[in-house]
Amino acid sequence: MKSAPVYFDYNATAPIKAAVRALVCDVLGDVGNASSVHGFGRAARKRIEEARAQVAALAGAEATQIIFNGGATEGNNTILRHFSGQRVLISAIEHPSVRESACEAERIPVTRDGVVDLAALETMLATGPAPSLVSVMMVNNEVGTIQPIAEIARMVKDKGALFHCDAVQAAGKLPLDMRRMGIDFMTLSAHKMGGPQGVGALIIGPCGVAPVMMFGGGQEKRQRAGTENVAGIAGMGLAAELAVADRERYDSVGTLRDYMEAEMKKIAPTLFVNGENAPRAPNTTNICLPGVEAQTMLMNLDLEGFAVGSGSACSSGSMKPSPVLLAMGIEEGHARSSLRISLGWDTNAAEIERFLAAWRALCARLLPDRNDVSREAIHHG
Ligand code: PMP
Repeated sequence: MKSAPVYFDYNATAPIKAAVRALVCDVLGDVGNASSVHGFGRAARKRIEEARAQVAALAGAEATQIIFNGGATEGNNTILRHFSGQRVLISAIEHPSVRESACEAERIPVTRDGVVDLAALETMLATGPAPSLVSVMMVNNEVGTIQPIAEIARMVKDKGALFHCDAVQAAGKLPLDMRRMGIDFMTLSAHKMGGPQGVGALIIGPCGVAPVMMFGGGQEKRQRAGTENVAGIAGMGLAAELAVADRERYDSVGTLRDYMEAEMKKIAPTLFVNGENAPRAPNTTNICLPGVEAQTMLMNLDLEGFAVGSGSACSSGSMKPSPVLLAMGIEEGHARSSLRISLGWDTNAAEIERFLAAWRALCARLLPDRNDVSREAIHHG
């Protein structure tokens, strides 16, 4: 009997946790507009306010600072577009929802390992007028590198600029503390941490800026008009609470990831890991197998029953090399041969072993001269 397919693409979207699904289904059955004053309305309002407190606890923020919205793309667009026409700096490896809503923004370069180049940032901050906004993500979605957010925020605040952090890929994997880290704006998405798709939060610290995304109603402090997605918001709240409770499960995921990388290298000695020398989120690996197209690996693994990603999920299907890898200085050929494998809180050792067996078979098929190469090496002593 064929085994069930294994999902290793958590950075694209993660499965909804069972308790969250149960809650969302439950709330979908309730009638009530949170703006209504009758009991039905007040019950819906209660759900939303409970979720606000849960998300605030995850982020290290106040409940009153949270604006629920349709996801992190919306949150990132809201902030970056609010500052359009002003001097804005963004890291060169931001998600497209930041990059493409701030086309004129200056790009802060990153090192070969995918970490913001602090010396370059220092120079940019010291040159020209102080920027209005600087935006750097906490964890990169493609390579998993963790950015030195507290240090960057300190440098930015010293210049009197505001600091935005897309923390989508960090939530549930690393501790978040908006206050302590000096973050003015944080974006989160429910579906990367066991919540439903299409719901997120923009968190705005006490900086006096109140960008408006939708007009026409008083919801979400008049900043995001429209009847709230009560079921989705309730689901995000519970997912946030569970993300805090389950965070330590990622320690063992990191051990599995490191083992998987080491074994993959033994099978294919030319393999290298993008961003390997930087601190990384425990669930993510981005490997390059020179000479083999990522799409070929992806489709072969899919046939073997493993779902992995290449480049950013949002641009998958496009054959363009990843702008993130190019910004890291990875040459184009290698960028085209890079694959993202992102594990989850419930990934287990048996799945990793099955994956390694599939990887061995894939390499035997796609690296036909591998044996010739090793024979030659023996022959030449
Ligand atoms: N930022 C990052 C770092 C992401 O990984 C994603 C999801 N690919 C987003 C933003 C967009 O999130 P959403 O799907 O909620 O719009």
